[in-house]
Amino acid sequence: MLLGPAAVARWVADASVEFASRAKELDALDAAIGDGDHGSNLARGMATAATIPLGATQSAADYLGRVGMALVSSVGGASGPLYGTFFLKTGQLWTSPPSVTSLALALRAGLKSIQARGRAEVGDATMIDALAPAVDVLEGHRSDDVRAAVTEAIAASLAGAETTAKMVARRGRAAHYGQASVGHVDPGARSMALLIESAGRQVIGTLGDPK
Ligand code: ADP
Ligand code: MG
Repeated sequence: MLLGPAAVARWVADASVEFASRAKELDALDAAIGDGDHGSNLARGMATAATIPLGATQSAADYLGRVGMALVSSVGGASGPLYGTFFLKTGQLWTSPPSVTSLALALRAGLKSIQARGRAEVGDATMIDALAPAVDVLEGHRSDDVRAAVTEAIAASLAGAETTAKMVARRGRAAHYGQASVGHVDPGARSMALLIESAGRQVIGTLGDPK
C-alpha cells in the first residue's frame, strides 16, 4: 500500500487531466454568476502543478506544499490562493497508509485554511459547500473501512456542490448577483467536488483488491 508522495503526485496528475477536460464546463458555470474564468484558471494551475518533479526523498507534505505555491502563483483570482492553501495544509497532515481518521484530519485542516482566508461558512455557496460534507462524512464514519468512507465522502461532496444552486451566494464575485445567483451551481463548489473525487480515486486505487 502506497500513499506517500507518489500517490499524491498521481492525485495531482489525475486532477490536471480532469480539469483540462472540465475547463469549459467550469468556465460556463462561472460565466453565469462570475467572470467565466474558473475552469481555465484551474486547468492552467493544475497543469503547472503537474509539471513539478517528484524528488526521490520528498515527502507528501513537501510535494503538496509546492503544488499549493504553484496554484497561488498561477491560478490568480479568488480561487488560486484558496486552493493553494488547501493543498498546502491538507498536505501537511497527509499520511501513508491512509486511515479514515487521517483523511478526515487532513481535509479538516484544508477546510479550516480556506475558511481562515475566505471567511465563508457552509451555506454561502462556495467551494466550502462541497468540502465540508466530505469532511463530515469522514469524521462521522464509524468503521475504518477507507473504501466505504471515501466512496460516501465523494458522493456527499458531489451532492454538496449541487446544493449550492439553492443558495444565495455570499462570497466572491457571485455575491454581487444576490438573489439572481439562486438556480446556479457555484463553479468552485463543482471544482472542489471534482477534486475530492479525484483524490478519492487515488486513495481507493491504493487499497488493492477488497477481498
Ligand atoms: P474569481 O472569482 O476571482 O474569478 P475563480 O473564478 O477562479 O475566481 O473562483 C471562483 C470560486 O471561488 C467561487 O465559485 C467560489 O467557490 C470560490 N470563492 C470565492 N470567494 C470565496 C471565499 N471567500 N471563500 C470560499 N470560496 C470562495
Ligand atoms: Mg471567475
